[in-house]
Amino acid sequence: MYFIFYVLTISVCLSTWMFEVSGNKVLLISMDGFRWDYIEQVDTPNFDAFAVNGTRAQYINGSFVTKTFPSHFTMATGLYEESHGIIANSMYDPEFNEYFNKRSKETKWWDGGEPLWITARKQGLKSAAYFWPGDEAKIKGLRPNIHFKFDGTIPFRSRIDSAVQWLSDDIDLVMVYLSEPDTTGHLFGPNTPQVRSKVKEMDDLLGYIVDAFDKASLWDTVNVIITSDHGMTEVDYANKHVDLSNFIDMNVVDAIPTTGPTANILPRVDMEQEIIDNLTNVPHIKVYSKDDIPEHWHYKEHRRILPVLVVAEEGWVALKGPEEYSEPDLGAHGYDNTLSTMKPIFYARGPNIKQGFESLPFSIVDIYPLVCKLLCLKPAPNNGTLDNTKYFIVNDNSESCPRVTSSSSRNYLQIYMLAILSLFLISPIRNIL
Ligand SMILES: [Zn+2]
Repeated sequence: MYFIFYVLTISVCLSTWMFEVSGNKVLLISMDGFRWDYIEQVDTPNFDAFAVNGTRAQYINGSFVTKTFPSHFTMATGLYEESHGIIANSMYDPEFNEYFNKRSKETKWWDGGEPLWITARKQGLKSAAYFWPGDEAKIKGLRPNIHFKFDGTIPFRSRIDSAVQWLSDDIDLVMVYLSEPDTTGHLFGPNTPQVRSKVKEMDDLLGYIVDAFDKASLWDTVNVIITSDHGMTEVDYANKHVDLSNFIDMNVVDAIPTTGPTANILPRVDMEQEIIDNLTNVPHIKVYSKDDIPEHWHYKEHRRILPVLVVAEEGWVALKGPEEYSEPDLGAHGYDNTLSTMKPIFYARGPNIKQGFESLPFSIVDIYPLVCKLLCLKPAPNNGTLDNTKYFIVNDNSESCPRVTSSSSRNYLQIYMLAILSLFLISPIRNIL
């Protein structure tokens, strides 16, 4: 009788271990504003080695607008900006009659999409996000298991140390945001010694990541993706601007929540056509009524996209007035995502990533289904596809996906079964039973 219990219990214990190989872990790192061709301007031995040991794409195609918050939420959800609703770093919602900025954490701004850290949690995995845009908001009732209030002073290496520790423990998905080389690109412009030096630093950081993975023996179980949200181009606010107030009567405008490479204009009632007429044929900008925004930008269906959109020619900015001429930045992004200068990097390495492979470029919306695939998760509805990334996925175990038993519940099951086993092993207790 006891023998049968014994065999049964050992079998269940073994089976929970044997079938755990149903999806590896993922570390997704975004190096903000890392233009695809930066690595051609300076020696990057660690990126080069990463590519040899994994897959790289020459570049990927970002989402429009090529801004940090919209693009990172697109990467996290696989949704175009018009679908998830984070359509700018600063925006106005006509239904809420409120403005959004980068400190807005209320659910109502962020619940238009399901980010990876939520998809993971909903299916029983554990997730951590280190400063990823949106990770402080409660979405579908959840946040990542680990998340923090943004603090740009935390050194990049500390963030990596934490990520490696979490992945060595029981966290299945870690998403880390790093603000460089974007900050340096804004300050000095993209083609400068300062940016080249910063790219070298980020290459050193990648070397640090690889060493940490070696030491923690994580390469057999964790897939690492290094990518970015957009590129960078030169700007000259003082001399290459279009002052919208020179062409339109600001008394017929209710709000312009965004200026720069793009400007969103909320006209007073019935003033939309007048504004469009006045801005049509102005050099260095293009003006669109919401209905006429080009389809390939996937940027027209959301209420936060206002009735008039101005898109500046590369290197130019659309401004509200002279008070904005003094912006000191020498680099900017936000332009048409099809411009070469707006395209970001992509690298991947790990147990499910082909080695030495050069992928064709794909879209930033494809990252969400790719990460779901690597984690063995059922993706939420999204605009991406695996059609472009399947060529570099190896050791595919999708027949056992989505996961039936999550790592955390699996651990509980193992502990539970071991406890029962112990009871039967301890004879005094067995006698009492
Ligand atoms: Zn950015």
